[in-house]
Amino acid sequence: MSVLDSFSLSGRTAIVTGGYRGLGLAFARGLAEAGADVVIGARDEKASAGAAAALAEETGRTVVGIGLDVADQDSAERSVAAALEATGRLDILVNNAGICIHRPALDIPADEWREVFDTNVHGLWLMSQVAGRHFAQQGAGTIVNIGSISAQIVNRPQWQPAYNASKAAVHQLTKSLAAEWAPLGIRVNAVAPGYVKTEMAPVDDPEFKPRWIDDAPMQRYALPEEIAPTVVYLASDASSFMTGSVVVIDGGYTLF
Ligand code: NDP
Repeated sequence: MSVLDSFSLSGRTAIVTGGYRGLGLAFARGLAEAGADVVIGARDEKASAGAAAALAEETGRTVVGIGLDVADQDSAERSVAAALEATGRLDILVNNAGICIHRPALDIPADEWREVFDTNVHGLWLMSQVAGRHFAQQGAGTIVNIGSISAQIVNRPQWQPAYNASKAAVHQLTKSLAAEWAPLGIRVNAVAPGYVKTEMAPVDDPEFKPRWIDDAPMQRYALPEEIAPTVVYLASDASSFMTGSVVVIDGGYTLF
C-alpha cells in the first residue's frame, strides 16, 4: 500500500457527532473527501440534514444528517442504526459534540455542571460504548475523540472549570478504552486542539484575543480545516499502530 493509499477511507462509514458546523463539519468534510460515507448527528436535526445534503453534493459520498442527543442512550443507539441502514456498515466514530460554558466556579449551578459533563463526558462515553459494541463484533473500528488543550492548561481570562475537567476526562477515557479495546481491533485516539475559530470560541473578541492569540508562539488561531487532516489520519490505516494517543494541535500554545 502506498503511503497516500493508507490515508484512504474508501468503503468505510463514519459518524461525526455535532457535525453540522465548526470543527465537526470540517471533520465530516475531511472524512468524506478521503472516501468515507458519513452520518452527521446533532440535536438540531434540520441543520444536520442541511449540512449533510450540501456535503453529499460537494463530495459525491453518501452523507446523512440525523437528530442525535449524545447524552441519550436511545438516541445514541439510533445513530449507529442509521449508519448501518444508510450504508450497511460503521467503521469510524468521531466524538466531536461538546459544549463550553464560561462561569466562575463559585457561581456554577448544579444543572449547568451536569449539562457540561452529560455532553462532553457521558455522551462521548455512551457513543463510544454503543459504537464499540458494533466494532467489537466486527473485530475492527476506530474512535477519534475531540479533547482539548483545556485538559492540560487552565484557560484565561475566562473561568470554565467544568469544561476543563470534562476534557481531562476525555483524554483519560481515550487511554482507558484504547488499552481495553486494543485486543478487539479497536483503536481509540484523541485530538487536543488549541484555539479554533468556531461559534464556541470567539477568538476575535478583544476580551480574549490578548491571552488566547497574542500570547501564543504562532500568534494566530486555527481554522477548523487545519485540524481535520489529523482526524482523517487517526481514522485511517495511516495510524494503524497508534492507540491511546492524544495529539495536541495548538500552534505551540501549550509550550509557554
Ligand atoms: P460548536 O459549538 O461550533 O459545535 C458544537 C456542535 O456540537 C454543534 O453542532 C452542536 O449541535 C453539537 N452538540 C452539542 N451538544 C450536543 C449533544 N448533546 N448531542 C449531539 N450534538 C451536540 O463547537 P466547536 O466546533 O468549536 O467544537 C467542537 C468540539 O471541539 C467540541 O468538543 C469542543 O469542545 C472541541 N474544541 C473546540 C475548540 C475551539 O477552539 N473551537 C478547541 C478545543 C476543542 P446541537 O447544539 O444542535 O446539538
